[in-house]
Amino acid sequence: MHRYVYAFGNGTADGDGTMKDALGGKGAGLAEMSRAGMPVPPGFTVSTEVCNIFFEANRTVPDEIEREAAEALAVLEKRIGKKLGDAADPLLLSVRSGAKFSMPGMMNTILNLGLNDATTQGLAAKTGNERFAYDCYRRFIQMFGEVALEIDMSKFDEVFDARKHKAKAKLDTDLTAQDLEAVIAEYKKIVKKETKKDFPQNAREQLKLARNAVFNSWWNPKAGYYRKMERIPDNLGTAANVQAMVFGNMGDTSCTGVGFTRDPGSGEKVFYGEFLVNAQGEDVVAGIRTPQPISELTAWNEGVYSQLVEITTRLEKHYKDMQDFEFTVQEGKLYMLQTRNGKRTGPAAVRVAVEMQEEGLIDERTAVLRVAPSQLDQLLHPVFSQASLGKLTKLTRGTDASPGAAVGRVAFSADDAVEMSEKAPVILLRKETTPDDIHGMDAAKGIVTAIGGKSSHAAVVARGMGRPCVVGAGAIEISERAKTATVAVSGKTLTVKEGDWISMDGTTGDVYLGQAETQDPDPHSPLFAKFMSMADRFRGGFGVRANADIPRDAEVARKFGAEGIGLCRTEHMFFAEDRIAHMQAMILARDEKTRRKALAKLLPMQRRDFAGLFEAMEGFPVVIRTLDPPLHEFLPKREELMVDLAVLPAADAKKKKELGAKYKRFSAAGKTLKAVLQGLLSRVEELHEFNPMLGLRGCRLGILYPEITEMQARAILEAALQVSKKGKKVIPEIMIPLIGDVKELENQKKIVVQAAEEALRKAGRTDLKYLVGTMIEIPRAALTAASVAREAEFFSFGTNDLTQTTMGLSRDDYTKFQKDYEERKIFAQDPFGVLDREGVGKLIQMAVKAGREARPALEVGICGEHGGEPSSVEFCYRTGMDYVSCSPYRVPIARLAAAQAAIEGDRSEATRTA
Ligand code: PEP
Ligand code: MG
Repeated sequence: MHRYVYAFGNGTADGDGTMKDALGGKGAGLAEMSRAGMPVPPGFTVSTEVCNIFFEANRTVPDEIEREAAEALAVLEKRIGKKLGDAADPLLLSVRSGAKFSMPGMMNTILNLGLNDATTQGLAAKTGNERFAYDCYRRFIQMFGEVALEIDMSKFDEVFDARKHKAKAKLDTDLTAQDLEAVIAEYKKIVKKETKKDFPQNAREQLKLARNAVFNSWWNPKAGYYRKMERIPDNLGTAANVQAMVFGNMGDTSCTGVGFTRDPGSGEKVFYGEFLVNAQGEDVVAGIRTPQPISELTAWNEGVYSQLVEITTRLEKHYKDMQDFEFTVQEGKLYMLQTRNGKRTGPAAVRVAVEMQEEGLIDERTAVLRVAPSQLDQLLHPVFSQASLGKLTKLTRGTDASPGAAVGRVAFSADDAVEMSEKAPVILLRKETTPDDIHGMDAAKGIVTAIGGKSSHAAVVARGMGRPCVVGAGAIEISERAKTATVAVSGKTLTVKEGDWISMDGTTGDVYLGQAETQDPDPHSPLFAKFMSMADRFRGGFGVRANADIPRDAEVARKFGAEGIGLCRTEHMFFAEDRIAHMQAMILARDEKTRRKALAKLLPMQRRDFAGLFEAMEGFPVVIRTLDPPLHEFLPKREELMVDLAVLPAADAKKKKELGAKYKRFSAAGKTLKAVLQGLLSRVEELHEFNPMLGLRGCRLGILYPEITEMQARAILEAALQVSKKGKKVIPEIMIPLIGDVKELENQKKIVVQAAEEALRKAGRTDLKYLVGTMIEIPRAALTAASVAREAEFFSFGTNDLTQTTMGLSRDDYTKFQKDYEERKIFAQDPFGVLDREGVGKLIQMAVKAGREARPALEVGICGEHGGEPSSVEFCYRTGMDYVSCSPYRVPIARLAAAQAAIEGDRSEATRTA
């Protein structure tokens, strides 16, 4: 029989820990813990499949599944010895969501289900605690009202606050049983008014409604947003976990808490977590009261503490991963409510992986797979420079919840954060965050909250996102409505307004007023180095190079482990103040002689830069691309020139001086400013293109002006000879951009080889080896790869342009309608960020195959932005490329992504050279 509902409890379970697809993470964890004999309150899991059936069947659950659920309920009642709806001794239930992948706080939960007017009396009599029973009932109506009946929470809050005011109660716990009874009566009136029906008294009906509400919450906007952010497929659905309630709020011998088997911020092996005495589970996660650290549990109940340590240690050994667990103690008895692999920061992920491997708990492969490549970003984030902090006012130290330093302008709401982040970096400053703030947290560079602990919503979500976060910064008084915050610093009250700059450090918990300077991270920390060298062992000969244009970037790239340069964009060398004039002169030149004159000035500068690159990359290949400039970027704007020409006749002395300075570098002896401007405008107009991206770019420029290619080839070889003379190994690779026809490559290669051979001959060093290859950036080049490879000694896929040209989609304009395309699900993701395997990827596969058939030793790599994006790196590995090349800071990410692809196997070895 196909099963839709899985019972667990009393040391057994229908499901087990491997069944996350059907049971969700929470359900699988409960089943596994129950099987292992751990103290889990009995219950059952309605599978994720039912969630999908529910939506297909117009938000109904077929009778056959309802019958199965009723049977599971009967089993549960038997296991616990209580019945749902029994007025004398009622069974109370929790109904919780739980998808395959954890989505903290994004979906719904209902507690204390089964309470109605009659069972509340029964609960009061049974516990001898009337106040407790009323408190449970009012919490239930409120939660059920909001989640299942879709009544605005604020309606309940208003009633509750009014009662507190009337009773002069400071804390919720100051309200008496009679106060709560009155609140319940008011709550029921709200339900009647809003739903036109009485609050449902039938517990079985409550259960169905609650389960359906959990399913419905799969499509909450915040859940949808979270899935998109985390790339969780929409069709997985959530399970609904129905479980007997245990109460952490039954007085001072009860508590509720959450914890981790290791510190999720640093990865240190310490028992880590928090608990709240006399509270229900949601109070901890919601961050409403600030809890006590778990170490204080020993003093509160030593027996419970050691039992908890023993159980969670077993859990970690069992799952072979750091566990994130929830527990409740009801009148001195411990219950485990959940366990799952804990979310952790990047630094923690690396530390836990390395230390678990050292402890023998996991092998090297598992350790390498344990860290998501994108998590490494957090180890590569900047930190504050101590000197700059000295100049700032420290506002407070809160709790360090997610590491990393961030600087930004203060926003007090999630919506403001999104809006303000378009103009400047933002720090989201809130009393606490709720799942509704997710978009603002995503837009912010960092998050600071005034209340809550390390497992509050803000902390958990920020860590998952890799955003720096400080919580519990209680010294800051925030008025979200007035958009101000005040904090007393050395007896003085400081006010922080919206838009003010603050700096926050999620590693220390410190918050400063003003803008701190940041410092680059240390890629040589022993743990990180150990982890990366472990990963590198799996990568084999697959290389990771860096895109670097100047020697300084090349040095950074080496530190991050780059094994060469995969792309040096030579035009980037010309934006420097001392070079741009020569570059402009070269572009503006109308004849070869003038152009050669300008080029002669550029040659020594290029040679110096190239020599710097070869030095930094000693022993590794350096791919240098011949000029591929969008020419217009180097020249004044046509419209600007027209305006300046128009105002010149009437300009006063001041304006004339200003214009003279502006166009100084274009002036020539004996020429008036007007003549200079006219000459400039006419050349700019000659060079004007309707579509510069498809115009005189790439190799086309070198074909029209061969002396440019010639100068660059000479500069490359002369630099290589210079460095080689010092006894250093150099491997130059000269790359021709943007070819669509092999004849373009032939033309340029001839020029390169001639200039190179001449330079080598002159130096008497014909032994120095160099390669000439091409970029594959145009579909035609990919389609004709076999003939291109007869000329090219290497291919490098320029997937920025190849994506642009294959999709006919402008790389510069796509962002304008990106959101619309993604919302309409036309593109699942940005094709300029994640390689489009189906289209662009197919061209790449074809070209690699055809290229290698024509030239078996063909070296193949990628140098578009995709070269540092984990899933694209995986694709490149599987396609049989020799290397990827990406920006220096992404080198470790690419190294890890390649290692993981290698571990997971399936590489097209047949087509690989190295
Ligand atoms: C590319 O097109 O992918 C590439 C690397 O070249 P550029 O980004 O310089 O056009
Ligand atoms: Mg390109």
